[in-house]
Amino acid sequence: MSDDILIKARDLSVHYQLSGGALFDPKPVVKAVEGVNLDIAKGSFFGLVGESGSGKTTLGRACLKAAPITRGTVTYSDEEVEFELTKIGKPELKEYRRRAQLIFQAPSAALSPRMPVRDIIAEPLEVMGLTSSREETDERVREIAAKCRLNLEHLRRFPHAFSGGQRQRISIARALVSRPHFVVADESVAALDVSIQADVLNLLKEIQQEMGLTFLFISHDLSVVAHVCDHVAVMYLGRLVESAPTRDLFFKPRHPYTKALLSAIPSLDPDDHGSAQKLEGEIPSPTNPPPGCKFQTRCAFAVEHCRKVEPKLEHSSTGHEVACHRWQELMD
Ligand code: ADP
Ligand code: MG
Repeated sequence: MSDDILIKARDLSVHYQLSGGALFDPKPVVKAVEGVNLDIAKGSFFGLVGESGSGKTTLGRACLKAAPITRGTVTYSDEEVEFELTKIGKPELKEYRRRAQLIFQAPSAALSPRMPVRDIIAEPLEVMGLTSSREETDERVREIAAKCRLNLEHLRRFPHAFSGGQRQRISIARALVSRPHFVVADESVAALDVSIQADVLNLLKEIQQEMGLTFLFISHDLSVVAHVCDHVAVMYLGRLVESAPTRDLFFKPRHPYTKALLSAIPSLDPDDHGSAQKLEGEIPSPTNPPPGCKFQTRCAFAVEHCRKVEPKLEHSSTGHEVACHRWQELMD
């Protein structure tokens, strides 16, 4: 419909109110995602990285309308429909579910042990009423299974009979059987052996290109992201702190947090990013974030201004955006 952006988030925030605290005290609020602006281009393999607890899963789920949006908007627009997720009702949500899918984190837990693989993959088609006969369902299941390198014999078996990599391919097939346009893959290879990770990543990339899909690929592992993504956003304590085409992010990182993440991966650090610090300490609690820049408590370059004023993600025509008061000085 509109331009070349499939998912557009503006000032997106997801806050969770926790129970507990003293009787008359305000209940603690977790700002899992805070004020995020995000553009995911159609057909891109968009990476989202950051330490555990930075808000990646919540942001991904908000883009699927599977996390409660406290403030801001998420707009989805493909060639046929446009949805503003905070405004849609049940019928549109049903339509959106077909177009936007999640590949689960831990496939073994997500796959029902008592269902043969054929039924596991077919279930979304049946729930969404997308096919009109068993033959049509079978046809669709076989088609997507083949794309995910599962054969007819596999379809008759139960999930326990499969290896981790095969199970992940089953859950990929299940997510893709409704022919979605947008797929959120949340730590989809994190539980797999390194040797199998590459297989599954290559498969995802292949399918993405063949089917013209748009991926939001979430991972805490930068080397995995470098391998498949064409654009990467870095998250810290609910905020996006840097966003850039993959090459720029890895070769010309601007945010001290990104540099610190990269310096922890020797194989990805070709010209050891000069002044990069080691990442020490823990990510602060999102119920009690520090004032100013959220990274200031761990940043070796923080000055008074950083402790008072939160930097905004600066827009740039090259697509390389950063939220740091000092990034330009630090590049010299
Ligand atoms: P990541 O995927 O980067 O590890 P998450 O999105 O899972 O991060 O979590 C971000 C923050 O939000 C964490 O502090 C987490 O504890 C909190 N959080 C996530 N989901 C909920 C929820 N349903 N209720 C309360 N807090 C939540
Ligand atoms: Mg997560």
